[in-house]
Amino acid sequence: MRFRPFQPPKRLLMGPGPSNVHPRVLEAMARPTIGHLDPAFTDMMDEVKALLQYAFRTRNEVTFPVSAPGSAGMESCFVNLVEPGDKVIIGHNGVFSERMRENVERSGGTAVMVDDAWGDPVDPQKIEDALKAHPDARIVAFVHAETSTGARSDAATLARLAHEHDCLVIADTVTSLGGIPLEVDAWELDAVYSGTQKCLSAPPGLSPVTFGERALDKIRARKEKVRSWFLDLNLVLGYWGGAGKRTYHHTAPVNALYALHEALLLLREEGLEAAWRRHRQTHERLCDGLEALGLELIVDPQYRLPQLNAVRVPEGIDEAQVRARLLHEHDLEIGAGLGPLAGRIWRIGLMGQTCRQENVRRCVEALGTVLAEAGHTADVDRARVAVGAV
Ligand SMILES: *Cc1c(COP(=O)(O)O)cnc(C)c1O
Repeated sequence: MRFRPFQPPKRLLMGPGPSNVHPRVLEAMARPTIGHLDPAFTDMMDEVKALLQYAFRTRNEVTFPVSAPGSAGMESCFVNLVEPGDKVIIGHNGVFSERMRENVERSGGTAVMVDDAWGDPVDPQKIEDALKAHPDARIVAFVHAETSTGARSDAATLARLAHEHDCLVIADTVTSLGGIPLEVDAWELDAVYSGTQKCLSAPPGLSPVTFGERALDKIRARKEKVRSWFLDLNLVLGYWGGAGKRTYHHTAPVNALYALHEALLLLREEGLEAAWRRHRQTHERLCDGLEALGLELIVDPQYRLPQLNAVRVPEGIDEAQVRARLLHEHDLEIGAGLGPLAGRIWRIGLMGQTCRQENVRRCVEALGTVLAEAGHTADVDRARVAVGAV
């Protein structure tokens, strides 16, 4: 067997993440590695923290990227906040809230699952009922932007209800950060985690998190050590914490942090609100194109995520074959359905750098072509007009 340097194919990434990474970010990542305690590096870390505060809209001091993907940010929030015996109410409307349950149970807590249909947002009324039925609950957790279905939940209202019942809030914002309005301070979200490879368009592998004072108080008051050495905030903050001296905890992924820094600079140059607007407008154009192709989105318009579009697979179409042809013949990646939606939907992502009108045109033309060849009576010409391709 002969080994050669790996050359990835050029793909347009329109699935549930990763999204396409801007050349400036790739170039930043290729700069020379320096020591993770080098003052030049720790100065850059301070900028990463400030830029994340900007993206999260928070003044929280404890705002930094965990050195591992979004799932580690999730684990970091749960393992630090949940103590053995704690009851956690979880809004359950997709894949990622199921993982929350795993995290609660592995931290020694009890999960109370509040079910909504996949494709629906978390229903605040059901959360309020659960809070009344479980006055001993300590935490409410939910996914703001459920990537498995494309539904947005009302994080502000859910957080208000939780606080009215003396609960803290853990919010998954992996897919929302940089793509739709997210206001950590205004909505008083206590512990929040995200990811780099969705609307921030940095490579996967880091998980921005932010913890507010109430969350830190609960962590400081723990009677038992955090059940993870690596994610224990008390230890991690020796490295990422306030200004001044940094002590070795683990070797930070130096080049991945260069990449995140550059991706956040791009966001800042565009402006957060302009990025939200771009996601919304590009999504509207995609909807026009899909509609012209005779395709439907499964989520009610008022709860749709612009960055993740769950499209119903038409009757008689082999969904996996369509995805395979898009990948191999059009270099276009879209996502499959998960759980109860497996085989029934495609997930078309418009995240971060991928979220551009020209990519909508490419996607609608390619999907229309493949569907027409598969026997779906799609009006590809009308779709081309709808997305401004002709
Ligand atoms: C992608 C995603 C995660 C997990 O992130 P990884 O980087 O894949 O570990 C968690 N929650 C949501 C909502 C996601 O979309």
